[in-house]
Amino acid sequence: MKKVDIIGGGIAGLALAAKLDPAQFDVTVHEQRPELPTVGTTLAMWPGAREALAELGLLESINEQGTFLAAGALRKPSGQPMLTMEGGGLVGVTRPALLRLLDSAVPVSVRRKRERVELLPSDSWLVVGADGVHSTVRRTCWGARAAARPTPFLAVRGVVPSRPSPEDVGEYWGRGTLFGLAPTEGGTNWYASYRSQLGPERVDVAEALKEAQQHYSHHSAAVQGVLAQATPDISLAQRIWTAPPLAKYTRGNVVLLGDAAHAMTPNLGRGACETLVDAVTLGRLINDLPRQEALHKYNRQRVLRTQQLRLASSMMGKVALAETMQPVRDGLLKQVGKRVAGKRKGA
Ligand SMILES: Cc1cc2nc3c(=O)[nH]c(=O)nc-3n(C[C@H](O)[C@H](O)[C@H](O)COP(=O)(O)OP(=O)(O)OC[C@H]3O[C@@H](n4cnc5c(N)ncnc54)[C@H](O)[C@@H]3O)c2cc1C
Repeated sequence: MKKVDIIGGGIAGLALAAKLDPAQFDVTVHEQRPELPTVGTTLAMWPGAREALAELGLLESINEQGTFLAAGALRKPSGQPMLTMEGGGLVGVTRPALLRLLDSAVPVSVRRKRERVELLPSDSWLVVGADGVHSTVRRTCWGARAAARPTPFLAVRGVVPSRPSPEDVGEYWGRGTLFGLAPTEGGTNWYASYRSQLGPERVDVAEALKEAQQHYSHHSAAVQGVLAQATPDISLAQRIWTAPPLAKYTRGNVVLLGDAAHAMTPNLGRGACETLVDAVTLGRLINDLPRQEALHKYNRQRVLRTQQLRLASSMMGKVALAETMQPVRDGLLKQVGKRVAGKRKGA
């Protein structure tokens, strides 16, 4: 049996542990958290992630537990739509529900160690860095220059009990502010992003909520209504961090996946989706091929794609959170919106 140590038992670590063949590998997942999180917002599952979940035998459960995302709009802070969008059959699932399902798919033979890893195991056939944006594995093997970097932006988010009206669903882009709201099981999933001095390491949720209420005081009644219901126990706040680019996700017998490899800003909603694709791709390759060939193919299949998305996400963030360029951006969006509406009428 080949010894595989997976550092991190989040989306990446659990998905990989679920995919690795228990007849070939002696797998240990090292996770610092004592238990799975119970508070978390919705993650939209794009087609690639849905295929990965199908490969893990979880797609049916995701469809049952998730919420199909209906049409939404890109809106001005007042709520006026600039551009309307179809949901396209996307399913949203909460992070706690996704983690519970992944956890249930991990074979019983996989060992679980509740510990924070500081020193990498030296006797492993494979060490997997699935330890998120602040990855110890990445820092240890790629050096301090590869450590995560803070962005100037905060992400504040949560779920409040009231259901949103369809006319309010969508993303609100202001001058240097972004706010999203959509239905989820149990109410409204919401998120806000703006420039802030709080943090960077530990952000006080109550303070962040107070700051958000001030930042969004000129937004529509729907946005203010959501923020008025948000309390620290049902909300999360953190600085957005990203990982600098890497040309390869492997070094010797060490491999990175998920945010440890390519943490991106959340603006395209793709981080968790690409993490799932990383995990099933790596698992499939490692199950079927000699180690070096598998790792080589993993780099070929995943590095370019995920680095492109990392860049695209960051560009989308710059547009969504534009400050001085906001009037130009809104003017362009209005034109695009008119064209899209015209095409839909003509179709
Ligand atoms: C505000 C925000 C909104 C987002 N929205 C979306 C979205 O809508 N859609 C989407 O697809 N993605 C989204 N993402 C991205 C998504 O959350 C990440 O891409 C995803 O969580 C990455 O999974 P991971 O398992 O690689 O890392 P993580 O989820 O960070 O998991 C890493 C795990 O490793 C553990 N760990 C860390 N260090 C150690 C250590 N030294 N020893 C032991 N254990 C350790 C941690 O406790 C954690 O459980 C969002 C991210 C943010 C910040």
